[in-house]
Amino acid sequence: MTRIRRPEYTGANRCLPCTAVNLALAAALAGVVALVSPPVATVVAAVAFASIYVRGYLVPGTPELTRRYLPDRVLAWFGKVDAPGASGAVDFDVVSFLDRSGVVVDDGDDVVLASNFEHSFETAAFALDSEAAMTAVASDLLAVDPDRVSFVASGTSWRVLVDGSVLGQWESRAAFVADLAAHRALSEWTGDWVSVPDAARGRTLSAVRACLEICPLCAGDIRLGTETVRSCCREYEVVAATCVDCDARLFETDARTVAAAE
Ligand SMILES: [Zn+2]
Repeated sequence: MTRIRRPEYTGANRCLPCTAVNLALAAALAGVVALVSPPVATVVAAVAFASIYVRGYLVPGTPELTRRYLPDRVLAWFGKVDAPGASGAVDFDVVSFLDRSGVVVDDGDDVVLASNFEHSFETAAFALDSEAAMTAVASDLLAVDPDRVSFVASGTSWRVLVDGSVLGQWESRAAFVADLAAHRALSEWTGDWVSVPDAARGRTLSAVRACLEICPLCAGDIRLGTETVRSCCREYEVVAATCVDCDARLFETDARTVAAAE
């Protein structure tokens, strides 16, 4: 069973476009077989659906096929393309909120964190040096009891679970610590933080994270660059911020989103 089950393509890792393509292929296959023998078609359909359920795909190589043939527009339906404002769009202007509350200041041709805010952010971040400290702030941010929160580090991601279900995924522990520290710092900085709509809170925290100049874990410098990333069914350019000392990925966003915003 362990050889058949493909955890990298199932569970939280299940890729919806790949699954949809496979379900369509399975239905087409069963349909063709049904022309010859309906009972055999039933068996074919059962085996095919079981395969998709357990392995995440039916036809070997479909993550590859999906990447090549599904247009971005279709992938966007499954949340695979981060079109600007497409996901969970809420009419809340993150940048103007940060600007209005003095969290960011205009530094000529760039927006940077105000130095007092940066200081309180760093104090909060360096205090988050244990899982217990992270759990305490996470439970405050998520408004759930600390004993319901847990974390799973897996290679290139940091997942946060509530009652055992994945609630969200960050680029790394450093990225999550940054968001917790930003939540702490914003809570102290402005009374308006509590009235930011829930759906815009994550974006606000990420915006602060994108402005960081030092790593929230080790205080190393952060390098900004572009690179090509392959997910299971597509390949794309990302703008990534990485700590030069501990190599933690602080931020990653689709390069086209950045280009569109400029
Ligand atoms: Zn670092």
